[in-house]
Amino acid sequence: EAKRAGKNTCCIFAKEMEDHALQPALLENDLHHAIERGQLSLYYQPIIDLVSGEVSGMEALLRWHHPEYGFISPGIFIPLAEETGLIHSIGRWVLRKACLQSKRWQEEGFRPIRMSVNISMKQLQERDFHQHIKSILDESGLEPQFLELEVTESTIMQNEQTVIENLTQIKALGVRISIDDFGTGYSSLSYLKRFDVDTLKIDKSFIHDLPDHHYGHVITTAVISIAHSLNMNVVAEGVEKEEQWKCLESIKCDAAQGYLFSPPSSVETLQPLLETGRWNERET
Ligand code: C2E
Ligand code: MG
Ligand code: MG
Ligand code: MG
Repeated sequence: EAKRAGKNTCCIFAKEMEDHALQPALLENDLHHAIERGQLSLYYQPIIDLVSGEVSGMEALLRWHHPEYGFISPGIFIPLAEETGLIHSIGRWVLRKACLQSKRWQEEGFRPIRMSVNISMKQLQERDFHQHIKSILDESGLEPQFLELEVTESTIMQNEQTVIENLTQIKALGVRISIDDFGTGYSSLSYLKRFDVDTLKIDKSFIHDLPDHHYGHVITTAVISIAHSLNMNVVAEGVEKEEQWKCLESIKCDAAQGYLFSPPSSVETLQPLLETGRWNERET
């Protein structure tokens, strides 16, 4: 009887843990302490120049190692951080850490690598956000052209005064702006030009269709053509296969990011790639 009860308890407990993990509201308190408890870390994913094969940039991607539930995806906790307002402190932690890392790589003798940081709309609604960027650049010593902020289409489409003011001031600092997940939201190229956007990152859902699907091929080719006419750079997201890379190369995409080259990785794991400075096709 006791054994049976124990077994049941165990199952119920396991079931409860599952439910906890699936209910973001219950993670709120834990997320509140995640920074001070050292549970957040940044992984970096290389962005590869498709002409030279060189590592042209790194995207900082946030990771949360929860003591009970293990790894929790940013797809789950970033929306929670946005709802609760925790994104303001988490976002600042990410920016500072990423800028310091990029500068550290320079100091270790590597060629300067542009650091891309994901920015939530909530952060661009902070009145002093551009001043915060300035102070992080000052503190880290990172040159502004080596910082790129990734914003989504819906963020840049916001006709909100604070957002416009921040984007304008950030561009004036010499920091770059890219549009993340391009093609998945409602977009207007005139807005892109208004803020002098530097980079379009084509969403992985389009890249996934390459090279075989006519639709993905036509859309990707058209986006690259428009972007280049407007003097913007194009990065393809989610490149997993060699055929996709070859196809992107043939339609003159500038750079690519994806598991084919490297998953998001720790600083230590990236060391050999940084030492080579380029992606070596033969290694795959
Ligand atoms: P994102 O900015 O579009 O980042 C790209 C996502 O695609 C990452 O997911 C990355 O791990 C994944 N990915 C990279 N290569 C491949 C590939 O070849 N195939 C596939 N299927 N996926 C690939 P991740 O790290 O889970 O991040 C998810 C999203 O969470 C990010 O999408 C970004 O919107 C958000 N995020 C991550 N870190 C931060 C952060 O520090 N701040 C904010 N505000 N958002 C963040
Ligand atoms: Mg991104
Ligand atoms: Mg993206
Ligand atoms: Mg995405």
